[in-house]
Amino acid sequence: MQILKTIDEVRALVKSWKKEGLSVGLVPTMGYLHEGHKSLIVKSVEQNDRTIVSDFVNPMQFGPTEDLATYPRDLQRDAELVESAGADAIFNPEPEEMYLPNFSSFVDMSTLTGGLCGKTRPIHFRGVCTVVSKLFNIVTPDRAYFGQKDAQQLAVIKHMVSDLSFGIEIVGCPIVREEDGLAKSSRNTYLSADERQAALVLSKSLEFGKNMIANGEKDAKMVVDCIKKEIEKEPLAKIDYVEIVSWPDLENVDTIDGSILCAMAVYIGKTRLIDNFIVE
Ligand code: AMP
Repeated sequence: MQILKTIDEVRALVKSWKKEGLSVGLVPTMGYLHEGHKSLIVKSVEQNDRTIVSDFVNPMQFGPTEDLATYPRDLQRDAELVESAGADAIFNPEPEEMYLPNFSSFVDMSTLTGGLCGKTRPIHFRGVCTVVSKLFNIVTPDRAYFGQKDAQQLAVIKHMVSDLSFGIEIVGCPIVREEDGLAKSSRNTYLSADERQAALVLSKSLEFGKNMIANGEKDAKMVVDCIKKEIEKEPLAKIDYVEIVSWPDLENVDTIDGSILCAMAVYIGKTRLIDNFIVE
């Protein structure tokens, strides 16, 4: 397993693989890897001859008051997990390698990015689309792997790949959870013991809403209101948003029929956590 720091090193390695006719999978991450990331890597290793994991805390997708400086980082630990999952290389560039001082080109999207997380994180998806486009251009993978944990991101990337004809297959992977239901996240490390317990309100309230839908409730507002009431019972929780939208178009829905995404962002103390479910 190789650790690559420069774009040129990645290009040379991928070129040598392609010369041999090997297929390449890319798993974009911000590092501090856990079992959720590992499930994406394992899937890529299954489906491709070679797999590269990018491990880059992308400054461009963080707002000025967000947690860029404190985002957890541990390359050594990440390298062990990536190797154990069977991948071939980690790409861990410094920000200066990705963004030269005169960097001035961005990939922006006029649909899908304004609602849900985009409402309170207005520059987030521009940063995501720009860095993912760069990674696609650097690695030129056959397939790239994204988690449903970030459902809006998955929808945005699929749309971008179609709009810009990247010719890369985007593979969506299910949410991996802790035993008690909390969705695995690098940001869970911010939680104190009390907050860790309080964070269960995300998955529990989503389960509550999912059961309402399974039992025939069709009124989206009714389901959202009941989920919000469940969250409000937890004193450490503060709702950013809870919404039901069409999947994968992310449009407002009044009546639940067809595929829907029920997504939420909730602050537990100072930590903003996201979770969701999709009903196909
Ligand atoms: P991140 O490092 O948080 O930017 O995540 C990198 C990729 O891993 C994204 O495609 C995420 O959706 C995915 N991911 C993160 N957490 C999970 C999880 N608990 N289950 C599945 N995929 C995940």
